[in-house]
Amino acid sequence: MVHRPIYLDCHATTPVDPRVLEAMLPFFTEQFGNPASLTHAYGWEAEAAVARSRQTLAAAINASPEEIVFTSGATEANNLAIKGIAEACFSRGRHIITVQTEHSAVLDPCKYLESLGFQVTYLPVQPDGLVNLDALDKAFRDDTILVSVMAANNEIGVLQPLAEIGMRCRDRKIIFHSDGAQSIGKIPLDVEAMRLDLLSLTAHKVYGPKGTGALYVRRRPRVPLAAQLHGGGHERGLRSGTLYTPQIVGFAKAVELGEAAMAAESARLTDLRQCLWNGLRPLGGLHLNGHATQRLPNNLNLSFDGVDGQALLLGLRGIVALSSGSACSTVSSAPSHVLKALGRDDALAYASLRFGLGRFTTAAEIDQVVAGVISTVQALRQVAE
Ligand SMILES: *Cc1c(COP(=O)(O)O)cnc(C)c1O
Repeated sequence: MVHRPIYLDCHATTPVDPRVLEAMLPFFTEQFGNPASLTHAYGWEAEAAVARSRQTLAAAINASPEEIVFTSGATEANNLAIKGIAEACFSRGRHIITVQTEHSAVLDPCKYLESLGFQVTYLPVQPDGLVNLDALDKAFRDDTILVSVMAANNEIGVLQPLAEIGMRCRDRKIIFHSDGAQSIGKIPLDVEAMRLDLLSLTAHKVYGPKGTGALYVRRRPRVPLAAQLHGGGHERGLRSGTLYTPQIVGFAKAVELGEAAMAAESARLTDLRQCLWNGLRPLGGLHLNGHATQRLPNNLNLSFDGVDGQALLLGLRGIVALSSGSACSTVSSAPSHVLKALGRDDALAYASLRFGLGRFTTAAEIDQVVAGVISTVQALRQVAE
């Protein structure tokens, strides 16, 4: 078997937890019915499993089950939220507010809407990656219909002040959406406390299967949303398409496990992350990207002085699997738009590493990664001298 490096890329995806897989398996071959088949037991048992999953997911975010719309993931949920609001509310206004450090699954739908005549304000962030609330206050307009701000950033892990933003939106009767892809099952999310109207979720960042997610859509007061997929009228007309029962069951199981383990797992990952940071610190010439404490427990993002980004990633390839400071989409090699928004120059942005620790990361692995990064960076700096 090929030697495989240590996996520290948990913001890209996570392995399926074996307990999640176990929960999913009966729904492929035994309880395989279509949850929309209402005339026989095969359909009923699939529908019952979907209903239980909906209940679990709703409870995790303090919502009610009818407010959960299943999708193929957070990309689809973001598209449904942003385009769906734009379409449903364009007669009221055509201005949207979002943030420069959002995921492309938010930025690209916004850019698309700009091509249709909508106007989008992309708020800058402070050097610590957090949204400046004063800048938000100044950005609101009479024709603003939607604010979209992610819960946790997928590159630098910072946690945006959702409750403060939600309060401002509610006061102005503006719809508030958040991309919660990195947050569900890892940090507390509460649609009431945060006054969220729409919240995008995905399973595969929290030890669930890829290709499944959900959009929370508030019912009281009802959020107007135009469907983007039309067909059999599934999900109360908001997202047609036969529900993927095994994936949905796995998604709910993953979130249930994440919620149950949240406190312990956060503490363990914070400790491991601290070991990694303390271990690397003697290298010197390091810049922490993102707020030091208001961030996901499993995220560390560092820029390294005096090394070439490409060479750094190449040197680490056999040791640790992680992402660099080039755009998180592997197709593009531009420097990360998130690190640029923090004010990093191109060279530093390229010479950056995103460490994403996870449920299955061990202290021994962190020790190995520390040793590997130190020797690689030292060697590269020596060459550069
Ligand atoms: C991974 C991710 C997405 C995309 O989610 P998919 O389920 O893979 O479509 C969107 N936003 C953020 C912040 C992410 O981390």
